[in-house]
Amino acid sequence: MAEARTVGTVHVVGAGIAGLACAVRLARQGRSVRLYEAAGQAGGRCRSYDDSRLERRIDNGNHLLLSANTEALSYVEEIGAGRSLIGPPRAAFPFVDLKSGERWTLRPGRGAVPWWLLNPARRVPGTGLGSYIAGLRLARAGPTDTVADCLDCHDPLWSRFWEPLTVAALNTAPEEASARLLWLVVRESFLRGEAACRPLIARDGLAASFVDPACAALRRAGAEISFNARLRALHTDGDRVQALDFGAAPVALGPADWSVLALPPTVAAELLPELPVPDESRPIVNVHIRLDTPPRLPPDLPFLGLVGGLADWLFLRGDVVSLTVSAAAALAEERSEAIAERLWRDTAQALALPSEPAPLMRVIKERRATFAQTPTSLSRRPPATTRWRNLLLAGDWTDTGYPATIESAVRSGRAAARRIAMDSPK
Ligand SMILES: Cc1cc2nc3c(=O)[nH]c(=O)nc-3n(C[C@H](O)[C@H](O)[C@H](O)COP(=O)(O)OP(=O)(O)OC[C@H]3O[C@@H](n4cnc5c(N)ncnc54)[C@H](O)[C@@H]3O)c2cc1C
Repeated sequence: MAEARTVGTVHVVGAGIAGLACAVRLARQGRSVRLYEAAGQAGGRCRSYDDSRLERRIDNGNHLLLSANTEALSYVEEIGAGRSLIGPPRAAFPFVDLKSGERWTLRPGRGAVPWWLLNPARRVPGTGLGSYIAGLRLARAGPTDTVADCLDCHDPLWSRFWEPLTVAALNTAPEEASARLLWLVVRESFLRGEAACRPLIARDGLAASFVDPACAALRRAGAEISFNARLRALHTDGDRVQALDFGAAPVALGPADWSVLALPPTVAAELLPELPVPDESRPIVNVHIRLDTPPRLPPDLPFLGLVGGLADWLFLRGDVVSLTVSAAAALAEERSEAIAERLWRDTAQALALPSEPAPLMRVIKERRATFAQTPTSLSRRPPATTRWRNLLLAGDWTDTGYPATIESAVRSGRAAARRIAMDSPK
C-alpha cells in the first residue's frame, strides 16, 4: 500500500535571503512554516541597521542587482516590495578613473549582438574592438581556469572592465576567480542586451526591499519566526533528522516534517561535518560617510564605478555616501580609522569635495562576505538534497550555478521549497 502522506511543518533555519525566500514560498502555499534565526534580526549578510555614530539607517554593505537577476526580482515582487528597487530606465554604468580623472559611462546596446562596441565613443576609453573580442576566450574556459588564465592583464580593458567586473560579480580577484562563472555573468547580462543589465539598488535600504516585507508576509501567512534561536546540533536516526537542538528543549520533527538549513557554509559544515562546502571566504569592506550636504550625481544614477583607487563602487543615498571594496582580504586587516581615511580620499576625489574636514564615517568589515569563487571552491558546492530524506540545504553557496549573490540565495531557497512541494504535495 502506498505510504499515506500528510503535510507537516517545515522548519527553516537561518533567516538570510535564502531562508526567507524558502519560507515565504512555502507559507504562501498554505504550509506550516517555522523560521529560526540566531541573530536578533533577519537578513544575514543583507541587512540594515540604525547607526548611532552617523545617526542614519545604513546597510551592512552596498548591494547591486541586475535586471538579469530574475529570481531575486520576482522574490521582491512576491513580498510586495517591487517598487522599492530603483535604477535608470536604460542600462548605464558611470565610471571615473581616480588616477587619470577620466570619466565615462558604459551603455550597453539593446540587442543581443553588441553592435554598440563598433562605436569607439561607446567603448571604455583607450580600448579597441579587439580587446572585447578577446573577452570571448572566457567562453572556452575549462573548469579549472581562472579569469587571469583567459584574459590579458596588460590590455587596457583589464583594469577598466574585466578586473572591476570580476571583483564586483565574484568578490574574488581575477587571478583566482573562476573564468567559467564570470562567463555565466557576461552571458546572462551583457550578451543579452541592455534590458538584462539594468542596475538596480534598494532605494530605502536592504531591509526595506528584501527583509522586512518578507517577515511581514510570513507573519500574515501564519508562519512563526524565532529570533535569537541558534541551531547547535541536529539529532539524526538513519536517513532522517529527528530533532533540531537549539540549546533549550529540542524541536522534534514529526514524520511529515522537513528541515531546511539556510545557514552560512562554515556553520553548515560544523553541524554536518561530512558535508563538503566551499571552505574559503573573501571579505568585503564598506565605509559609510555622512556629508553635510548631499553631493550631486546624475539623478537617475545613484552610484559610480571607481577605478585606479582603492574603492570599487560609490553609492549615494541622501547625505550618506557608501564605498565598497570587494575581495578585500588585505584591507580588512587594517585599522578601521586608516581604512576610513583612505576611502575618504577616494570619495573626495570622485565627488570633487574638499578633503578637510573629514566627515563622520563608519567602516563595516564583512570578513565572510561570500565564499571565494575559485574553481576549487566551486567544485565543493553541495546540492540542496542531503543523505537525510527530510533535510535540505539552501544558501548562496550551494550548487545553484550562480555567483554567491542575492540571486543565488533566492534560487537556492526556492529550489528547497519546490523540492518539499514535490515530495509532500498538499
Ligand atoms: C558587504 C556585502 C556586499 C554584497 N554585495 C552584493 C551585491 O552587490 N549583489 C548581490 O546580489 N549580493 C551581494 N552580496 C551577497 C549577498 O548578500 C548574499 O549572497 C546573500 O545575502 C546570502 O544570503 P544567504 O541566505 O545565503 O546567507 P546569509 O545571509 O549568511 O544567511 C544565513 C543566516 O543564518 C543565520 N545563522 C547562522 N548560524 C546560525 C545558526 N546556528 N542557527 C540559526 N541561524 C544561524 C545567520 O545569522 C544568517 O541570518 C553582498 C554581501 C556582502 C556581505
